[in-house]
Amino acid sequence: MLETVRLVARGIQQKVVLWDGRKVIDWLQARRLRRLIAHAKAHSPFYAQRYRNIDPDGFRLEDLPPVTKTELMANFDDVVTDRRLKLRDLEAFMSDPQRLGQWYLGEYAVSRTSGTQGMQAVIVQDRRMMELLFALQMTRGTVFPTTPWGIVARLVQRARLAVITIGRGFFPSAAALAYAPKASRRFVKRLWLQHIEPLEEVVARLNRFRPHVLLAYANVLVILAREALAGRLRLPGLRQVINMSEPLSDGARALVSRAFGLPVTNNYALGECMALTTGCTCSPGMHVQADWAILEVVDKNYRPVPPGQPGDKVLVTNLYNTVQPFIRYEVNDVVTLSPSACPCGCPLPLVLKVEGRTDEVIWIRVGDRYKLLHPYVLVDFLDEYPPVGWYQIIQTERNRFLLRAQPAPNRTVSVEELRQVIERGLKHYHLDGLVQFDIEITDQVAPDPRSGKLRRITSRVGPPADLTEEERLLAEQSQASFVPPAENRGAA
Ligand SMILES: [Zn+2]
Repeated sequence: MLETVRLVARGIQQKVVLWDGRKVIDWLQARRLRRLIAHAKAHSPFYAQRYRNIDPDGFRLEDLPPVTKTELMANFDDVVTDRRLKLRDLEAFMSDPQRLGQWYLGEYAVSRTSGTQGMQAVIVQDRRMMELLFALQMTRGTVFPTTPWGIVARLVQRARLAVITIGRGFFPSAAALAYAPKASRRFVKRLWLQHIEPLEEVVARLNRFRPHVLLAYANVLVILAREALAGRLRLPGLRQVINMSEPLSDGARALVSRAFGLPVTNNYALGECMALTTGCTCSPGMHVQADWAILEVVDKNYRPVPPGQPGDKVLVTNLYNTVQPFIRYEVNDVVTLSPSACPCGCPLPLVLKVEGRTDEVIWIRVGDRYKLLHPYVLVDFLDEYPPVGWYQIIQTERNRFLLRAQPAPNRTVSVEELRQVIERGLKHYHLDGLVQFDIEITDQVAPDPRSGKLRRITSRVGPPADLTEEERLLAEQSQASFVPPAENRGAA
């Protein structure tokens, strides 16, 4: 009961802040940044060294040196502000997917990114942070009423939320659900599917559940849109479709909107900062939750890029995670901020467009037809195997793949073990016997030195030439949903 009251209070707080306009947001941002810097300097040996010349009471954001994922992971034990947290122990804890939802040391929600840029980040958050994430979801970027009365009314009439994630592991989106406050169930009735295969079963369960809100990765939404257009998926009560975690192209957005008869709410977040944005319910954009995060769009030399123009990368500052500070954290996403205020009247800055992760979707042959594979299906099990650092999967024949893997720093990889990891993964997704994997251990897998990006999944065979009309449409949309970053365009 206490937790429920707290969630209502925190939800209302997040809403009230927006009524007061930009001034209060900016004031909160400045205050939270100052506190975070002071805390990091006092409790993190890494930041103490990094900020030795920074005065927590008098600095400018641009005085703080940017940090990279490689740096933060290499110095993990010194970066965190709780000395009990050790990277090796956390990796060992997460090696068993069954532990997802168990609080580490009784107080920490742990997760790891899916290595969208070729290397994983391990993330630690506490209960307060998980409550904040839920409070923000409940009150921003939702089509449900967010007046104080509206929030309380949801205790009586719960929203039905269907979420589809892929993989059993500790992915940030899975962790956000598994570690959601218990009291969140009083507001939301949830169906959480952790697979998209077998598709028939997923469709049947969604049809039975009749969700008000459907939340999934862009490419899963595309696959479901196809089922809706074919009349197999029927969700008459649906009120909102939300994309998470993957850039949604204009083509994919149009297809999903047409299939469900609803606009798609977009979302741009990182495992390292899940509260980065919230989708706008009246435009394709996303609002930066500037009271809890700072998003700087910069060029290659970290100079600010004005709204309206795409940057080369972004620097993200997470203002709520005091256990593992991410301060001016470099991410190779190409982001464009809006030069004008959002038509919805929300005072938060608006992200117009995100071009980022660049995996390809894969078509394989099953009997006499083709099947579209979501890229996560292929990388999920590898992401659960820490000895592998950078890796790349290449479709060499329709149903044959080459895995090129580089051991993580100070690790060795055995081909035999890797083969077992892959076999377990294929079995999990019912792909065993259907596709073959060749394995090559190499130290030659590296991101593009200019963009810092690595295409984890590429295809040498491309989409099949003899697709049906419907499959062809889907192929075009799915290709479009992985827009290569500006610097790679034309290269492929
Ligand atoms: Zn808006």
